[in-house]
Amino acid sequence: MKHIILFGPPGAGKGTQAALLVDHLGFLHISTGDLLRAEIAKRTELGIRAAEFIDAGELVPDETVIGMIRNRLQEMCMVPGIIYDGFPRTLPQANALDAMLASRQEQIDGLLSLEVPHEELIKRLTIRGETSGRSDDTDLATIENRIEVYEKKTKPIIDHYEALGHHYPVVGTGNIDEISERLITVIKTRII
Ligand code: AMP
Repeated sequence: MKHIILFGPPGAGKGTQAALLVDHLGFLHISTGDLLRAEIAKRTELGIRAAEFIDAGELVPDETVIGMIRNRLQEMCMVPGIIYDGFPRTLPQANALDAMLASRQEQIDGLLSLEVPHEELIKRLTIRGETSGRSDDTDLATIENRIEVYEKKTKPIIDHYEALGHHYPVVGTGNIDEISERLITVIKTRII
């Protein structure tokens, strides 16, 4: 089973591109953001606790998201691969994921990072806030905070997988289909 992380700052297009990739490759899509929003919609205890962090543009604690991924991986079999979207977001999450996969004699096969300039991210997230109703996309200060949290806590994950030879940068601007083709080319020529 192949394990591919779709990586990038908030607004880079991870969710959109992950959906296209899973259609094309028959992989499974795991988005911790979607899993958390489902918990919030069901008003579970986990969801209520997570909403406070999400609304502030902060990260949900590592144990919570690592636990969600562990549960999903245990259920998983018979898929050719998994696209991780929005996970890992900290080095402890990346280390936990590596350990979970190592115990299955598997590993992260590629981290594809979507590169998008800062002004473009703000523009995309502001537009998304107007149409999606996502609470964390409607306030400019919250959007800026999420990007700052990405720079400080999430971006160092690139170096971790770069050192292992598994980092593939991809230009994240242009139209949706162009970006998708770039990702598929990298996956087909370098990863599977
Ligand atoms: P996303 O849909 O990936 O943009 O995630 C929305 C929000 O959910 C993030 O801003 C975080 O507050 C939270 N979240 C999603 N994934 C994670 C994660 N792996 N670690 C911590 N918080 C997360």
